[in-house]
Amino acid sequence: MPLCPMRQMLDQARKRHYGVGAYNVNNMEQIQAIIGAAGETQSPVIIQASRGALEYTNLIYLKHLMAAAVEEHPELPIVLHLDHGPNLKLCQEAIGLGFTSVMIDGSIDYDTKTPEGKHPARSFEDNIRVTKEVVDYAHQFGVSVEGELGTLGGIEEDTHTDKVLLTEPAQVEEFCKRTGVDALALAIGTSHGAYKFKHEPILALDLISECRKRAPNTSFVMHGSSSVPQELIAEVNKYGGKMPGAMGVPISSIQEAVKRGIQKINVDTDGRLAVTAAIRKVFTEKPAEFDPRKYLGPARDSLQKLIASKMRDFGTAGHAGDYKPKSLRAMKNLYAKQAAPAQ
Ligand SMILES: [Zn+2]
Repeated sequence: MPLCPMRQMLDQARKRHYGVGAYNVNNMEQIQAIIGAAGETQSPVIIQASRGALEYTNLIYLKHLMAAAVEEHPELPIVLHLDHGPNLKLCQEAIGLGFTSVMIDGSIDYDTKTPEGKHPARSFEDNIRVTKEVVDYAHQFGVSVEGELGTLGGIEEDTHTDKVLLTEPAQVEEFCKRTGVDALALAIGTSHGAYKFKHEPILALDLISECRKRAPNTSFVMHGSSSVPQELIAEVNKYGGKMPGAMGVPISSIQEAVKRGIQKINVDTDGRLAVTAAIRKVFTEKPAEFDPRKYLGPARDSLQKLIASKMRDFGTAGHAGDYKPKSLRAMKNLYAKQAAPAQ
């Protein structure tokens, strides 16, 4: 399937100062909604699957659903990306399936017996070692790599030491040079999930500008960038849900982050909210309904609407026709050229 390399997509976004959303998927309706939104707004798009999504979809289904998406919209640049790859092995598996991009999250040591969410942070040197290993492997196939420096977490939480959690701009240049990553996730105070902040969100936006200066040729990624729209939370709660106090990153902060040098914006929670709100509404208003199409259909429509509005807000809309996706073979040759010693 002719997917787009993420390196090329984010290079384009960096040159033209817009952000590209990376949306998580687990099933057919989500893929259709995201691709539908990209078609509607003529946007390049990154579709990403986490380790959990790969397990849920049994890999092969995801691969073929993506192939269907590309067949339906050959005019769109589409990246298939592995989100939070824990180790080389899973990255290799994703590359084998045809992913055009993988994330190796070397900031955290996933390979211990620690419960999910409590994994220890890796040292800077260990992060470089683990990340470089994946870059060396992936670039042989023309596949792009995203790394992560610093760990995610809210700035205002009491239990943290923010200097350790946030990305150190001084380390960014060295990390990018030594690993050769195409994209780097920065920790600027966002966190995953629907409960990012207790009060007004505080993001270290200055940090993006600092990092941008130090690594002008690497694209930057913002994780945990759902806005948690309060109207969706209200819908969820109105129809029997229980999500008090959920809060996210305002669109205006994301737009400022893009201005300062973020290219990839990860959004998962908002999609979950749109789907859940729509399904709850049907279940509450039509309790006799039992045809899955009657609630998965509205969920898909609601998700497409949400993603299309993000594509407009991030500035992605209208950029689908700007370039022709390069083949992985062309990318492989480019990487090989860069790696060759100067004559
Ligand atoms: Zn993430």
